[in-house]
Amino acid sequence: QTHKETLGFQTEVKQLLQLMIHSLYSNKEIFLRELISNAADAADKLRFEALTQPELLEAAGQGPALPGGGELRIQVSVDPQAHTVTIDDNGIGMSRDEAIAHLGTIAKSGTGDFLRQLSGDQKKDSQLIGQFGVGFYSAFIVADQVDVYSRRAGLPASEGVHWSSRGEGEFDVETVDKPERGTRIVLHLKDDQQDFADAWRLRSIIKKYSDHIGLPIQMVKEHHGEDAPAEIEWETVNRASALWTRPRSEITDAEYQEFYKHAAHDHQDPLAWSHNKVEGKLEYTSLLYVPGHAPFDLYHRDAPKGLKLYVQRVFVMDQAEQFLPLYLRFIKGVVDSNDLSLNVSREILQSGPVIDSMKSALTKRSLDMLEKLATDKPEVYAGFWKQFGQVLKEGPAEDFNNREKIAGLLRFASTHDASGEQSVSLADYLGRMIEGQDKIYFLTGDSHTQVKDSPHLEVFRKKGIEVLLLTDRIDEWLMGYLTEFDGKSFVDVARGDLDLGALESAEDKQAQEEAAKEKQGLVERLKTALGDEVADVRVSHRLTDSPAILAIGEQDLGLQMRQILEASGQ
Ligand code: ADP
Ligand code: MG
Repeated sequence: QTHKETLGFQTEVKQLLQLMIHSLYSNKEIFLRELISNAADAADKLRFEALTQPELLEAAGQGPALPGGGELRIQVSVDPQAHTVTIDDNGIGMSRDEAIAHLGTIAKSGTGDFLRQLSGDQKKDSQLIGQFGVGFYSAFIVADQVDVYSRRAGLPASEGVHWSSRGEGEFDVETVDKPERGTRIVLHLKDDQQDFADAWRLRSIIKKYSDHIGLPIQMVKEHHGEDAPAEIEWETVNRASALWTRPRSEITDAEYQEFYKHAAHDHQDPLAWSHNKVEGKLEYTSLLYVPGHAPFDLYHRDAPKGLKLYVQRVFVMDQAEQFLPLYLRFIKGVVDSNDLSLNVSREILQSGPVIDSMKSALTKRSLDMLEKLATDKPEVYAGFWKQFGQVLKEGPAEDFNNREKIAGLLRFASTHDASGEQSVSLADYLGRMIEGQDKIYFLTGDSHTQVKDSPHLEVFRKKGIEVLLLTDRIDEWLMGYLTEFDGKSFVDVARGDLDLGALESAEDKQAQEEAAKEKQGLVERLKTALGDEVADVRVSHRLTDSPAILAIGEQDLGLQMRQILEASGQ
């Protein structure tokens, strides 16, 4: 049965469509990049599934299995008379149910929350859309009707699907005959987008955005003059070799950037990348990227994370999470291993010596890449820190071995800089330590306004000692794991008896002792008056202007942690 039905898009899709059409008008040509990217993903998936089911390739009706004839390819063609652009792939294809699910809903977690943030301001929204990823629906930027003809590899020719929509809230699906495996997408160009029906223009867009795609993208060969053959000839217009397999010296920045957009499903440029080929006991190539902005779902537990895993050039899986620790979950990229088996599964990836040693090497590479960015381009790093600093702060707790390296990447607000910006590195701090200082002092609190005038800082101001001001929710937890840096220990200035050690002169100390003796009577009276409210009352030398201060015991939970525990009912 061909059973034609009309279905409504999920509400989120409707919203996204509206937005996309209105906010991406200045960058319309990206629709081609997105559709080619999907076609390339579909070829990757087929190649992978065919490892265990070679019959999937034969079922294509396209001759022998790979490699050799019937090669996987993407074909792009135009019909200026019909005002259409067609993108045809012979990848995995979609069944009717898959077409309904994948082209009618958005599966990403947190989509609703994301869409609620949109303001209606086109400029802001187009940036947010970039964070979200534009994908298939970008076809409707240039087309007022999109027809998708698809058949999943392995299904009979009679089980093709025709999906069709004008992008206005609903779509039709119908079962049709489709002899060739894969997906053909026909875009009916809007009246004002007719200039895309131009083979030369499409060619240049493909070169610009999709040159790095490791699969041939073909267009009809143009024949000038009379000797055009009767049969259509296709020619490959991109370079068609997987980018990471090429030598670094031959790859331009623009190519690295375009590859990132494909691999990370992002639409803004990355901040940095690191491309390495490792030979020896283990052999693999990695290409890691630092994205330019946090994805909208950075803090969703099931948000996609991890690298694209290839084994000997064959795509194996997206989101291989085992190669990087959680605190580096924002890093994107590809790892291509020669040591893993092609039928490696998520379970196998859980651990093992190969995975472990790759993970520690890739972690180190990621941290080195961030270090380099911080050194070479401090302004760019400051932008990175705003987006991902909070995540990096999870590092010292998760990755004990690298905690010194991670600490070097952290940025703090401090008494050195009144702006409250998190801009001070520990190296900066060490460089400003005063004579005799051998500790790194910090103060935690709820907000910068709250801590910046704290009485705890008085003695430090007087002596000209810098104090780090930590006011993020995660900071107290972080400081529980960060005990020293460059051999200097961290000291919470709000805790216990503040021992300033060598920073205090002998006269200071004597004066303090005398003061303590003198005030013994007052201390006793206060203790009786306050009773159980306090653990102890002491004469303090941390104050210069304020008469009294509340301090936290050396071993007690900090205020932030207390609040977190209280809020969770403990
Ligand atoms: P993404 O590529 O980030 O998953 P898209 O919106 O680009 O999101 O595509 C949505 C889904 O539609 C894909 O994940 C895939 O399952 C399916 N899809 C799109 N294009 C194709 C294609 N050419 N062949 C097979 N499946 C496709
Ligand atoms: Mg896509």
